[in-house]
Amino acid sequence: MASFATGLLCRECGATYPTEARYSCEFCFGPLEVDYDLEAAKGVVTRASIEAGPSSIWRYAALLPDPGVEPVDLGAGWTPLRRATRLAEVLGVKELWLKDDTRNPTGSFKDRVVSCALSSARRLGFTTAACASTGNLATSVAAHAAFIGWPSVTIIPSDLEKSKIAMTAIFGGTVLGVEGNYDDVNRLCVELVAEHPDWAFANVNLRPYYAEGSKTLAFEICEQLGWTMPDQVVVPLASGSQFTKVAKGFNQFIELGLVSGTAPVLFGAQATGCSPIATAFAEGAEVVTPQKPNTIARSLAIGNPADGPYVLDNLRAKGGDCGSVSDEEILECIGLLAQTEGVFAETAGGVTIASLRQMIRRGTIDPNKSIVAIISGHGLKTLDAVVDTAVVSATITPSLANAEEALNFLRLVSAS
Ligand SMILES: [Zn+2]
Repeated sequence: MASFATGLLCRECGATYPTEARYSCEFCFGPLEVDYDLEAAKGVVTRASIEAGPSSIWRYAALLPDPGVEPVDLGAGWTPLRRATRLAEVLGVKELWLKDDTRNPTGSFKDRVVSCALSSARRLGFTTAACASTGNLATSVAAHAAFIGWPSVTIIPSDLEKSKIAMTAIFGGTVLGVEGNYDDVNRLCVELVAEHPDWAFANVNLRPYYAEGSKTLAFEICEQLGWTMPDQVVVPLASGSQFTKVAKGFNQFIELGLVSGTAPVLFGAQATGCSPIATAFAEGAEVVTPQKPNTIARSLAIGNPADGPYVLDNLRAKGGDCGSVSDEEILECIGLLAQTEGVFAETAGGVTIASLRQMIRRGTIDPNKSIVAIISGHGLKTLDAVVDTAVVSATITPSLANAEEALNFLRLVSAS
């Protein structure tokens, strides 16, 4: 089915543009987003038409930017929504679900946004894939570029986790390490865009198309809950783009009559070591003040979040809240999630679960209403964070006597 995307819309002044290679408004410099003719889509985009689509984000092609070409589809999306009964019991909540985005082709939700961005990039005549990244995006861009035979240039802070650098470099593109944090990398990429007009920076000059991919999280959650909406959703916050687009996704489904009721209340999750949005929300501040990140949750370490103001508005207007959790709590909750549900999440997943726990404890998340927590990336990506604490129980020489002795000892230790 063809896309119902009509053009680009300025999020600040409402100016409109065709779906071209443009990412900021020429009148007010505001950010742009893809707009749709939902009136025309009503009754055409149906539950049945969606269910007949592929098992990837492209089952929602009618509500994504029009690729106008075969989409760049490495299989992003349609990840499991798991009922988490054991974790729910520990947290004291009635109905908890995990949106398990560790299961994407390169192990993070970024595959959703990159699939969208590079599909539009191909239509718009770009020839090189690029991005500014805290790691996961670089991996996804490099993989999708390899998949379509494009060169890639991914730009990251040089001190990222070794596992994330390896997962990106293996795809054969150029990986440029920058001595600085993500905000430095992003500034550099904005300058590079001007010098290399044929490079598609997924999250810079392709940002309006890129961001739309996150809506599919909301679409899938509804569809997987039998075309209903949960009451509450916890979203990890980096730039805040995933949060605002998940909100847009629920609203589009409501407008199209694909689900009924009110949109879920969205909750944010940040690490205290990089919590510009949580801080502004807690202090009742008008603006999001940039921070210098210092946290093990590197994938969320964006000190100057582009969508921060929009997230703040949503949290205040809809009765949400935002968690802010320490590195210790993040590590503890990576373990809690793994040990109760068999899901190994990267540090961002620890942030989501620890924030969920925090907001349940302070009473802003209702334990009697349904909850979905978005687990955005796989634990193998941040193995460095747990490699010193998740270790063998004992090391022995290979004899039955030694094995029995060690096992008896460990039983005593765990019983005490
Ligand atoms: Zn504008």
